[in-house]
Amino acid sequence: MSIEYRIEKSRRRSLSIHIENDGSVVVKSPLGTPAIYIEQFVQKQTKWILKTQEKIQRQRELALSMGPLSEKDLKAVKEKARFIIPMKVEHYAQLLGVTYGKISLKLQKTRWGSCSRDGNLNFNYLLVLMPEEILDSVVVHELCHRKHMNHSKKFYEEIESVFPDYKRCDRWLKQNGASYLMRIK
Ligand SMILES: [Zn+2]
Repeated sequence: MSIEYRIEKSRRRSLSIHIENDGSVVVKSPLGTPAIYIEQFVQKQTKWILKTQEKIQRQRELALSMGPLSEKDLKAVKEKARFIIPMKVEHYAQLLGVTYGKISLKLQKTRWGSCSRDGNLNFNYLLVLMPEEILDSVVVHELCHRKHMNHSKKFYEEIESVFPDYKRCDRWLKQNGASYLMRIK
C-alpha cells in the first residue's frame, strides 16, 4: 500500500508526519534527508496514517450532516454560551470548593478550555452545541486545575470525584470535537 504525501523541508531535527484537515499527508523533514529514508518512515506509519485519515473523514461527514455555521449562527451560539457556561462554572466550582476569576468565551481552534494560574477560565463556546455532559466535563476539567495545575493521576481522580463519566466524555470530545470546528467557514 503506497501513500501519497508532500514533503516540506526545513531546518528541523527530525521527521514528522501531519495529516491535514482534507486528509492529505505532509512529511516535515530536515534539509538533506534522503528520499529513501522519508519513504521508509512513511511506510512504517502506514497504519497510523490510514487510521487518522479515516477518523478525519468521519469527522468531515459528521460536520457536513450538521451543516455549516454562519456568522449569525455563531453569534447566537455565543449568546447561549454566555448564559449557560457561567452557570455551569458556578455549580461545579461550589461542588469542588474552588474559586475562579474571569470567564472568557472564545472560538479557539486548538483547545476547548483553559485555566490560567490566577484562575481565569477560557472556554470554546461551540461546546454549548454538544451534548450537555460534554460541556460539563470540560468545565470540571478546567476547574480541577484550580487544585492541580497539571494532568497527574490526582488531577483525574479529582475530576472523577464529582464527574464519574469523565473518561467517556473526553473520548467523545476527541472523536467528535473537530467536526464542530469544521462547521465554521
Ligand atoms: Zn488540562
